[in-house]
Amino acid sequence: MKNIVIVGGGFAGISIANKLAKKLRRKDAKVILIEPKEINIYEPQFVFLGFKNTPQSKFIKPMNKVLSGKVNWLRTTALKIDSEKRTIALANGDTLHYDYIVLATGAKMDVESVNAYDDENIHHFYLLDATKKLQEALKNFKGGTIVISPTTVPYKCPPAPAEFTFVLEKFLRQRNLRDKTTIKYLYPLMRPYPEPRVSEKVQKNFDERGIEFGEFFNYETVDKKNSKIISLEGEEIDYDLLVLIPPHKGHKVIIESGLGDREGFVSANKFTLKVNDHENMYAIGDCTNLPISKSGAAAHFASDALIKNLILEIDGKEPTKKYNGFTVCFVVTSFRRSLLLVFSYKYPPRKIGLHNLFLYGLFKKSFKIVYFKALIRGYL
Ligand SMILES: Cc1cc2nc3c(=O)[nH]c(=O)nc-3n(C[C@H](O)[C@H](O)[C@H](O)COP(=O)(O)OP(=O)(O)OC[C@H]3O[C@@H](n4cnc5c(N)ncnc54)[C@H](O)[C@@H]3O)c2cc1C
Repeated sequence: MKNIVIVGGGFAGISIANKLAKKLRRKDAKVILIEPKEINIYEPQFVFLGFKNTPQSKFIKPMNKVLSGKVNWLRTTALKIDSEKRTIALANGDTLHYDYIVLATGAKMDVESVNAYDDENIHHFYLLDATKKLQEALKNFKGGTIVISPTTVPYKCPPAPAEFTFVLEKFLRQRNLRDKTTIKYLYPLMRPYPEPRVSEKVQKNFDERGIEFGEFFNYETVDKKNSKIISLEGEEIDYDLLVLIPPHKGHKVIIESGLGDREGFVSANKFTLKVNDHENMYAIGDCTNLPISKSGAAAHFASDALIKNLILEIDGKEPTKKYNGFTVCFVVTSFRRSLLLVFSYKYPPRKIGLHNLFLYGLFKKSFKIVYFKALIRGYL
């Protein structure tokens, strides 16, 4: 019996485990998922949660609602992976042998390194509790300057900070606070989105809505006492409320097992998803340093190649299936509107269909139903 072990049960890990359990049912293989958390969170909801309370049952589901009963779930943390002995040391004291391993540990929000989120005026929307805190701050906001800035790149879901800014602007208008508020969006590039054509659209939306854009702002630190955000170049921007996207890095198990790059992300072949320089090891999702966005959609589209290659290897064949980098992204521009982008390794993000369409907005808002009913369960 072969042990196929998936480390990390977020969106990528759970969906891969569910698909593998189905595909390997006639083979002599056991699918094991290592994940300490008992729930799965639909993170795109955070973009809206900052503004409006939503019952948690709508975007958080217990593991047994999303994980197939055919997957062996170990509710513990992986401490160290020994790729030569093919073993994993677990926090529960056990050592697990693997024949094949899939790394799906995601990205860690390195909030400690910022040393600022204890301040009542500094927030983010990348973790559940932080988003609830931000919701409270926005509820009590009476006007002033709101600054939005990432600390580092890459971060999950490249459009999320701009999406948040669009929804924020609408929220302030709805509360009659827009005239009393300056919104500033700071970004490390010369444009508000990495890809020029999408950036054009984002900039147009910013201009139309009076959102100020600060280019080449490389975050360095916050002066909490004087409420200033400071760049590497020494630029200082005042804020009354700061929304600061936390730095992202790889998880401890990746770093301590010597599997990460400088930021702790796993270096994997962008076509086959095999971890470079390691046998019988694959990686998927936000834990990788693949040249694609850190998004659930990218993990979803990459999963097909990973699964096919893994099965080819189990059958003693060459893992030849290639992922072409294809992914899609719905960019929220308001509470009810979105743009649809598609891209791959071969072509940069491009808009398709009618832009800024109400229908895309509706689709994005209701997507969590598709996510929990089909996507994460491995039906699509
Ligand atoms: C505000 C926001 C908006 C977003 N919007 C979108 C969107 O519109 N579209 C989109 O496609 N994506 C979006 N995303 C991104 C998407 O949510 C993530 O890219 C996706 O969840 C990544 O899945 P993952 O499984 O790679 O990582 P995660 O979901 O982070 O899962 C990793 C799992 O690994 C576990 N783990 C870590 N270390 C260990 C260990 N040592 N042992 C065992 N388990 C471990 C963790 O507990 C975690 O459960 C958004 C994200 C945010 C924050």
